Amino acid sequence: MHEFRQSMLELVTKTSTELPPDVRAAMGVAMGAEPREGRSGQALAIIAENIDAAAGCEGPICQDTGMPTFEIRAPAGVSFLELRQEIREAVAEATRRGKLRPNSVDSITGRNSGDNLGPGTPILHFDQWEREDIEVRLILKGGGCENTNAQYALPVELPHLGRADRSLDGVRKCVLHAVWNAQGKGCSPGAVGVCVGGDRTSGYQHAKEQLFRTLDDTNPDARLAALEDVIMFTVNSLGVGTMGFGGDVSLIGCKIGALNRLPASFFVSVAYDCWAFRRLGVLIDPATGRIREWLYRDPAKPVVPMVAAGERGFVKTGREVVLTAPIDEATIRSLQVGDLVLVSGRAYTGRDAVHAHLMKHAPPADVDLAGGVLYHCGPVVVKEGERWRVTAAGPTTSIREEPYQADIIRRCGVRAVIGKGGMGARTLEALKDAGAVYLNAIGGAAQFYARCVENVDGVSLLDFGTPEALWHLRLREFPAIVTMDAHGHSLHRRVETESGARLEGLATAPWSGA
Ligand code: SF4
Repeated sequence: MHEFRQSMLELVTKTSTELPPDVRAAMGVAMGAEPREGRSGQALAIIAENIDAAAGCEGPICQDTGMPTFEIRAPAGVSFLELRQEIREAVAEATRRGKLRPNSVDSITGRNSGDNLGPGTPILHFDQWEREDIEVRLILKGGGCENTNAQYALPVELPHLGRADRSLDGVRKCVLHAVWNAQGKGCSPGAVGVCVGGDRTSGYQHAKEQLFRTLDDTNPDARLAALEDVIMFTVNSLGVGTMGFGGDVSLIGCKIGALNRLPASFFVSVAYDCWAFRRLGVLIDPATGRIREWLYRDPAKPVVPMVAAGERGFVKTGREVVLTAPIDEATIRSLQVGDLVLVSGRAYTGRDAVHAHLMKHAPPADVDLAGGVLYHCGPVVVKEGERWRVTAAGPTTSIREEPYQADIIRRCGVRAVIGKGGMGARTLEALKDAGAVYLNAIGGAAQFYARCVENVDGVSLLDFGTPEALWHLRLREFPAIVTMDAHGHSLHRRVETESGARLEGLATAPWSGA
């Protein structure tokens, strides 16, 4: 069983750090489709560098290493209890090694277990099969994209699309609506797993299971294959683009399954996964516990870099605006939506727990947010002797902080909020009043951004757990795009409105499968 645990540790490590070849290929196509100098092209250049950096250093591709979800099939006679125990040990060890972020939180108290173990974590699904190997497949799907999952009960009236009936065309409308609704919050371009039918529980589970199919496979059901093709053929005309910046690629895959349903129910469940689409698998020799074969990747073939030798990924143009914290109001008011900025100096991280805390308490004594940068980020941080080191530090989804952000900007004098996916009307109003901006960093680019952290100068509120603590980071040339400025403009609102209008054009798209 020791060997089996080692095999599971290797599976978790590779899944967290190495994107599978089919996803790399799809992202390569996306890079080819977006003009390099555009916002989406620049974002994809950062993503490409990030993917290569993660594989190179065996660091997490994204700091949100997600909910570890294992699908296990084993022959009769293999103890599921023992497999469960060994997988749990491997998950805890991977967390200690910084390959997984401590992500398991008590839902009542908010306490982080620290080792990714707890009721419901990790998720383990067991099944028996007639083959002699043990098959273990793993998907790591983060919170940003998980929060954009959607479930529809047909018939339903959908914004911009009209009525979605109980038909394949109704399913098509639901999928388009889910992708449009996700915008950049799920770190587009993403992929969707879809289930037609089932009940509310089995529908979501089967939708997620579709994500274990490779992006380039063909659905064995000809009707669903045709539906997948129609969606992939039309969805990119929505113009959501990378990170919701607007662009020509919004989705890299659509995989649809179906389950029988009750006559009274017709659910369409959509599991949205981000570009950091981490899933791998192994076949294990039950006699030795060793890996016999990898699924989704061929270790004999070298990993092809996303950024080809001799080329460079993200390249500075010289037109970037340099921001050094603390930042004065005049500098902030000179910025416009679309400007690319490079942020240096002190930034403080703050996620859900920090925002809730700051609503009731003053900032900790050693935290000065006046003129400061607040970074929506739950980094992976490891302690080396007396020092902390950030090993992954991409942005988290900002909209969760919408109920708090306006008050904190006004009360604490924050000049720049860095996050991803954009924020709402209250925050936009506060940015205008107080003279502050929202900067959209590239979601999932955890390795790229970890290299922009020069030092961890300190930490406050560590009892919230490492992802939720308030870290004092020293940044150097951290690139981000102004997507909400101090003049009341929001790129997110514009892209949502424009893509909504395009969605209307797809309501009656030619479709013979209805
Ligand atoms: S890439 Fe974005 S959505 Fe995906 S896990 Fe990372 S932060 Fe979450």
